[in-house]
Amino acid sequence: MKKIFLIALIIIGLGFYHSQAQTVDEITAISEGPKILVLNYHQVADTNNPLAVHVSDFDTQMKFLADSGCITITPDELYAGINGEIELPPKPVLITFDDGYIDNYTNAFPILKKYKLRATIFVIPAFTSVYPGYMTWEQLKEMESKGIAIESHTLNHTKLEELPDDEIRNELLNSKNLLEEQLGHPIEFLAYPTGTYNLHIAGIAQDVGYKGAFTIKYGVVDKGSNFFALERVPIFNTAQNTMKDFYERIAWRQSFEEFGWIKK
Ligand SMILES: [Zn+2]
Repeated sequence: MKKIFLIALIIIGLGFYHSQAQTVDEITAISEGPKILVLNYHQVADTNNPLAVHVSDFDTQMKFLADSGCITITPDELYAGINGEIELPPKPVLITFDDGYIDNYTNAFPILKKYKLRATIFVIPAFTSVYPGYMTWEQLKEMESKGIAIESHTLNHTKLEELPDDEIRNELLNSKNLLEEQLGHPIEFLAYPTGTYNLHIAGIAQDVGYKGAFTIKYGVVDKGSNFFALERVPIFNTAQNTMKDFYERIAWRQSFEEFGWIKK
């Protein structure tokens, strides 16, 4: 009996040791592979709304990215690059917009075209072609034909953590279905409304068929990132007519020095 107890202890001990070793491997893996900067915008307009970046500031920021030799990628490319399925270009950047405001079409789109930059817009399908402040399906289709990717920001932009499971599922799945029906291609990425998420919501997102989801967790996406809690750098509520906030936010980590982006 004593012998069995001792063997059981050794087995438990080995299991504990193994899980500790795995954790160390996971942490060290974070420093390997590509690092992708994901920028998060909302409005591009000359208003004092804290979610807005002024048009001339947005132009300066996009010019800076283009002049720095950044290559803009899509969420699909981010996913394939992190998984080692494709080789990402040097200085990969994913420019994202949340909500699908009309100014993304009227103000941001011409500037993106001018600098030959791609971007991804997470839209709210129940608002699309419904509310005047948001884009129409025709505008989304036109943008997609010029290199802008459209993905989901849930059906109604409701706080997901306050909803029962069937409604969370409805928000995630019905937005995906409606966008696929209107735009005619798979919708596989999500941005959580207001950036909040938890493991339970992430599990439902995965279950209904998303490949990844973006948060407003401040950071850079790399091999150590969770595909259902992808990091972004918020670029809104920045000081106007200055690049100071923009530089500081994208230079938040020493690792960005390798991009040559720290301007003093
Ligand atoms: Zn939003």
